Amino acid sequence: MSEHIVIVGGGIVGCMTAMALVDAGHRVTIVERNQIASQTSGESSWAGGGIVFPLLPWMYSEPVNQLTSYGATSYQQICARLERETGLPTGFINSGFLLLPPYDQTSAIHWCEKHQQAYEFLDEVDSRLAQNHLTQSSLWMPEVSQVRPPYLMNALRQWLVQNDVTLLERTELSPLNETMPLKAWKTLDGVEIKADKFLVTSGAWSFQLLKTVAGQLNIKPMRGQILLYQPDQNLKQIVYKDGFYMIPREDGYLLAGSTLEDVGFDTSVTDDVKAELAAKAEAIMPALKGLPIIKHWSGLRPGTPENLPVISAHPQIENLYLNTGHFRYGLTMAPASARLISELMTGQAPFIEASPFALAID
Ligand SMILES: Cc1cc2nc3c(=O)[nH]c(=O)nc-3n(C[C@H](O)[C@H](O)[C@H](O)COP(=O)(O)OP(=O)(O)OC[C@H]3O[C@@H](n4cnc5c(N)ncnc54)[C@H](O)[C@@H]3O)c2cc1C
Repeated sequence: MSEHIVIVGGGIVGCMTAMALVDAGHRVTIVERNQIASQTSGESSWAGGGIVFPLLPWMYSEPVNQLTSYGATSYQQICARLERETGLPTGFINSGFLLLPPYDQTSAIHWCEKHQQAYEFLDEVDSRLAQNHLTQSSLWMPEVSQVRPPYLMNALRQWLVQNDVTLLERTELSPLNETMPLKAWKTLDGVEIKADKFLVTSGAWSFQLLKTVAGQLNIKPMRGQILLYQPDQNLKQIVYKDGFYMIPREDGYLLAGSTLEDVGFDTSVTDDVKAELAAKAEAIMPALKGLPIIKHWSGLRPGTPENLPVISAHPQIENLYLNTGHFRYGLTMAPASARLISELMTGQAPFIEASPFALAID
């Protein structure tokens, strides 16, 4: 039976879930307080680096790995579909991932073997290091890909428009204080939005929206800052070293990031972080010294303990659902997360065990 589903928040998680629900035959409305595919107040999806892989996957639990691995293997197909059906780019490239020391080699090998992730150790003179002017032996993971978040979000927005999803942009919903069942949700202007089911995908703002009805929801903003360069000769692969990464884009740009800052909803960019990121970038790629930093931006990740999102029905409000808290890997996790919540909302058997992502309320 086709239902009308209202999604609150038009980031990557809301948009991909809308796509899954449209594919399942439902009528979908997205309510977004700014504009989808833009960055106004720290929305994370526009700001992200776009690596479709969880930097050091061996540091995370199996449920987290289930979501990220599914995303890592499905992006190529999703992006091909978006590009074919909208004519817009997504920036998907299979650029591979070079992991420079220090890292836990035993855990890395164990994880790659267990998850059938292709890998190779490159010695100091390997040509793949030389083409990046790198000289440290490294772990090479050729299957790791990237998307370009502003492009991907733009293509998604266009796909949603083409597929009759109603976009209520520049429309902010008020914090929820109703209880079951939820017949309508009020905007800040007092307009009632009605639906059969509601889904919260409001990223870092989810707790603010739900604190009265889901006080245990453990989500807080975690700021990340990134720099943008345009070097004469770019890296060929994504390079990661000691908590810091560099992502080369196809048109010659290079991202260098990022930080994990617990500063509330402050979206400013800071000079000290700029200097810190530039120093790390120049240590890996000395040719960046003296080059202008073209752009410097920040985004607010929806931070959660253990990077574990909540993908779940609300245990008490029968027509309210959550898909939020993807922290550092929301772009990577979005396809799996969208599929899982869509299955839970439409009464289908979930493709992975859903209990690790359940919202617990005493
Ligand atoms: C610097 C940085 C680098 C990153 N790099 C990567 C990476 O390489 N790979 C990766 O997988 N992930 C990465 N991430 C993480 C990823 O970007 C996030 O996990 C993901 O974007 C979260 O998506 P979301 O849709 O939940 O949140 P958001 O994109 O923040 O979307 C939430 C939306 O809800 C809207 N909203 C909030 N409140 C309301 C309301 N009351 N009414 C209506 N709308 C509302 C907001 O305006 C916003 O558009 C990075 C993040 C940052 C900041």
